[in-house]
Amino acid sequence: MMHNQEPDRREFLSAASALAAGASLAGPEPRPNRGPEILIRRPHPAVVASHNAFPHCTEAAMKAILAGKPVVDAVVEGVTLVENDPEDHSVGLGGIPNEEGVVELDASVMDGASGLSGAVASIRNIKNPASVALRVLRYTDHCLLVGEGALRFAKAHGFKEEELLTDDAREIWLYWKGNLSSSDKWFAKDLDQLPAGAKKWLTTTGTVNCCGVDRNGQLAGTTTTSGLAFKIPGRVGDSPIVGAGLYVDNDAGAAGSTGRGEANIISCGSLIVVEAMRRGAHPTDACKEAAERIVRLTKAKHLLDARGRPTFNVNFYAVDKQGRTGGFAIKRKDTYAVFDEKGNRQVPLDSVFAD
Ligand code: ASP
Repeated sequence: MMHNQEPDRREFLSAASALAAGASLAGPEPRPNRGPEILIRRPHPAVVASHNAFPHCTEAAMKAILAGKPVVDAVVEGVTLVENDPEDHSVGLGGIPNEEGVVELDASVMDGASGLSGAVASIRNIKNPASVALRVLRYTDHCLLVGEGALRFAKAHGFKEEELLTDDAREIWLYWKGNLSSSDKWFAKDLDQLPAGAKKWLTTTGTVNCCGVDRNGQLAGTTTTSGLAFKIPGRVGDSPIVGAGLYVDNDAGAAGSTGRGEANIISCGSLIVVEAMRRGAHPTDACKEAAERIVRLTKAKHLLDARGRPTFNVNFYAVDKQGRTGGFAIKRKDTYAVFDEKGNRQVPLDSVFAD
């Protein structure tokens, strides 16, 4: 597969400093005449993320990287905006709850520079699990805290407990609950009585993944989610599982994922992406390899449609040490978010199956 040529780094570095100074990446500044220049072959900063990270999460992450913050802090700063957004029902405040109407969140962070990871799973009442995961990485000798223990740890670090089920998310859950069975006593409202935009969340879930690299080639990533809608309480998806919903290796690249977590856990998707980048694959080709692996590994009848294709989707996103970005999905033409030397933008996501 052919991919774009590397951009002129001198041009990017001047544009990147313009952004750091508050300007946009619309175009390069004129270069002062300083005689023959040495072209420094450094990676350029880049951020890659799931579609719901566009534009604010990717912008915040890039700004933080350009301001010199550690990449792991930068990506967590970015996804915090999405976690705090009650309109995004895939994560944090306003996340779609489990089958009992309780919001349970999963998140992980991985830092290439230190080679450490941190994660929380099935945490309740804390709207920023990615920040808690970062505390696990920095202030414990562990990789993953779950449930009650994760909540206690978060509270010890000053995170405030709050109700994460918003009125809109509650309406969506009640609609699902009321249609679950004709032999219970729950009735649902009519579909057209649901809040505007609520309908899509009955069939779509989601997650925010954001990975980045700075100009020194330091890589990091984070994935945060409310998981599959109406899941069984205690269910943990791929997002807090290192190697599945997120993987970072400072020598190769960073990758993350959204979509059906169970399939991604079974295939170790993000690890597959990073290992392909280590062999020199472009991030898009690396993501394609992981998506194809899930297709190959999906054999159970209840997960296959009449054409023998997976009934679900998984998307991968990746950035390598040189700052090249890419993404690939199993199905469904979608977009992902990229902020690099060309600016903050949405990019079409290719897929294994076109229809
Ligand atoms: N990957 C998430 C999970 O399985 C859900 C999603 O991204 O839609 O928990």
